[in-house]
Amino acid sequence: MSSPTLENLGHEDRSFPPDPAFTAQANGTTAMYAAADADYESFWADQARSRLTWSKDFTEVLDWSKAPFATWFADGELNAAYNCVDRHVEAGHGDRVAIHFVGEPTDDTADTRDITYAELHAQVQRAANALQDLGVGKGDTVAIYLPMIPEAVVAMLACARIGAPHSVVFGGFSAEALNSRIRDAKCKLVITADGGYRRGAASALKPAVDEALAKAPTGVEHVLVVKRTGAEVAWTDVDIWWEDALAAADATHVAVGFEAEHPLFILYTSGTTGKPKGIFHTTGGYLTQVAYTNAVVHDVHPETDVYWCTADVGWVTGHSYIVYGPLANGATQVMYEGTPDTPHQGRWWEIIQDHKVTILYTAPTAIRTCMKWGESIPAKFDLSSLRVLGSVGESINPEAWMWYRRVIGAGTAPIVDTWWQTETGGIMISPLPGVTALKPGSAQRAIPGISVDVVDDEAKSVPDGGGGYLVVDKPWPAMLRGIWGDPERYQETYWSRFPGLYFAGDGAKKDSEGNIWLLGRVDDVMNVSGHRLSTTEIESALVSHPKVAEAAVVGAADATTGQAVCAFVILRGDAVQEVDEKGEGVDLVQELRNHVAKEIGPIAKPRQIMIVKELPKTRSGKIMRRLLRDVAEHREVGDVTTLADSTVMDLIKTGLDTTSED
Ligand code: ATP
Ligand code: MG
Repeated sequence: MSSPTLENLGHEDRSFPPDPAFTAQANGTTAMYAAADADYESFWADQARSRLTWSKDFTEVLDWSKAPFATWFADGELNAAYNCVDRHVEAGHGDRVAIHFVGEPTDDTADTRDITYAELHAQVQRAANALQDLGVGKGDTVAIYLPMIPEAVVAMLACARIGAPHSVVFGGFSAEALNSRIRDAKCKLVITADGGYRRGAASALKPAVDEALAKAPTGVEHVLVVKRTGAEVAWTDVDIWWEDALAAADATHVAVGFEAEHPLFILYTSGTTGKPKGIFHTTGGYLTQVAYTNAVVHDVHPETDVYWCTADVGWVTGHSYIVYGPLANGATQVMYEGTPDTPHQGRWWEIIQDHKVTILYTAPTAIRTCMKWGESIPAKFDLSSLRVLGSVGESINPEAWMWYRRVIGAGTAPIVDTWWQTETGGIMISPLPGVTALKPGSAQRAIPGISVDVVDDEAKSVPDGGGGYLVVDKPWPAMLRGIWGDPERYQETYWSRFPGLYFAGDGAKKDSEGNIWLLGRVDDVMNVSGHRLSTTEIESALVSHPKVAEAAVVGAADATTGQAVCAFVILRGDAVQEVDEKGEGVDLVQELRNHVAKEIGPIAKPRQIMIVKELPKTRSGKIMRRLLRDVAEHREVGDVTTLADSTVMDLIKTGLDTTSED
């Protein structure tokens, strides 16, 4: 790399201090930073003991002597399912709703269910017994391939209860992807459903499992099938209905404790940068960090809040902040099966109104999509119950942040922009909503107990105002314990770039106050005439134009500058109409180029801007810039297997052929 650090181009002066009334009731406090700084091992030991119930207390907090292989609370024992369910019932909260389930259909196939902690307890016990009846025990791996229905949560907790690590595979993945994940993790059992509801129709899931098992020998002994849509399914002798298995199983199951370092789950990363990696997490440290962060970052108060995380359980966000964090805390939450625009574009806001949701945790892609649809849609619903908003998955552009706060949060709800990864298991960098003066677009600083830095090529900490590589410089409880079955790849991928530091793959900068700004993947950094530019800053400049809802920026080879900035933008609803009616496309492109030059400087002015209707995204909703780079450099488009909708690339390629460069 020609120059050690990323340019620091963006600037942000807006700041939103917390409301004293919010601070007065907040779980996260200023004192926590000092406590964690003073002695971070005892800080985490306190979190582990105060938030969880251990069947055997631990004497050792952290062992880092075999770095980068850590153990946390290693001689302690606990059961994750007991912590998420049983103990709340024992404490007298059996009647509290754990899950307000909202199925996608609104017609006569509509399905909404309120599942109390007592009901969840009953189901998890039966499911645990059913798994054991099928010969699944401690250390056996189970693949879960389900829609967003409560049975997914029950299945995960049943596995956890008997010490069988689960590998949840997102229901939108193909038979091919499922087959390779089942084989990689050597799963003995698959839990699936006949189908689920998505985009207004029943869509089948079971056929993909049949195909996956037929493809290459997997060693799968049984398939449990949840009846969701009632569609006809082909049946083989390994198949068993979930409902029958649970009915035949014993109603009571006593949870025993497992070692804190017993594997809880394997989960494959979302594949934004390439082939997904099978990340695995263990029990005690993971559960400690997700319970803690759900309390102090989302500010969940289980007695009064209705929390909703819109992620799919197939992603780490669903694991940590639908299943393990909120349930360990005894929270009440909404779980929604379908898409945000079925049967209308206000569906989410309707759900918030109906259930009086107080905390919403979602992704920038969803916020930008709602910006594109227009603010008249959320305006039709009563969103006044919302008191905390969260964001995860990508950088949130400052203007999307402002929109989120103003349109969804009534101009008052704090927004927590949370940076973390499948690998980190839980939130690492985020404001605390009762403590931090918020800066739109910045994840701000490491939460208490976590230590991160931004370093240059030589692993030296950059000063405030500088840019470089985001690293984590102390082990943390929910850290990945490895890549399943491949310890060398674990060391190589995360610990070899900067010895002793965990390198996350993301670029970041520190502003003049030390706030951290995520600048995108280092693989995506552009080098224009020797200046290293971040994708995020230029995208945010584009989104700050009132006609733009979403933008993706890539560097394409350029004869004079090395690389040139190429941008792809999606317009907001009303702007699309104007462009269509008045044919103002060419003028608008010029206006946007000038806008970027004005906002962050002429060096960042895009050589080319293309107006598109959709962007290539992973199935978890993240923009896949490497495909856009292929298009911008007129190459064959690379591997699209992790793409949600492969027709998007055809549309973009055709569009590109008809626009000229200037
Ligand atoms: P793969 O590692 O297979 O390419 P992935 O990195 O997209 O997939 P995840 O673990 O789901 O898989 O995503 C983690 C990444 O998401 C982070 O490394 C970062 O790039 C991005 N990210 C998550 N939260 C934020 C945030 N608040 N701000 C900026 N980026 C974020
Ligand atoms: Mg990653």
